[in-house]
Amino acid sequence: MNEPDCLFCKFATGKIPVNFVYETEHVLAFRDINPQAPSHILIIPRRHIATINEIEDSDAELVGMLVTAARDIAKQEGTDTAGFRVTMNCNKAAGQSVFHVHLHLLGGRKFAWPPG
Ligand code: AMP
Ligand code: ZN
Repeated sequence: MNEPDCLFCKFATGKIPVNFVYETEHVLAFRDINPQAPSHILIIPRRHIATINEIEDSDAELVGMLVTAARDIAKQEGTDTAGFRVTMNCNKAAGQSVFHVHLHLLGGRKFAWPPG
């Protein structure tokens, strides 16, 4: 269920205290420590899943909750109308550095495409 050495599991279990901007039975969100935009929030499932590769078909509802959380938090942050970006990095080539799936919700500035 939770990995003892996983930073985001420690947030989820309260082992390391963090301020949540959004909290439900299955999903948590908090501000990124190294923000890449004026509003940069990480949205995670409480349950440990290392990468997108480990997501099971039966997790589809949970993964959908990450996106509905992004919708609600963007509204909370006031970035919904101007626009925002949602990103999930999977494994090293994409730059994943914390191996507990998370969705980046970035807003408050203009974003380039294609991403770097
Ligand atoms: P990724 O590179 O996609 O795995 O994203 C991991 C994110 O976690 C990075 O944007 C980091 O800045 C962020 N991060 C790492 N440690 C912490 C922390 N203690 N609190 C909040 N965010 C963190
Ligand atoms: Zn974890």
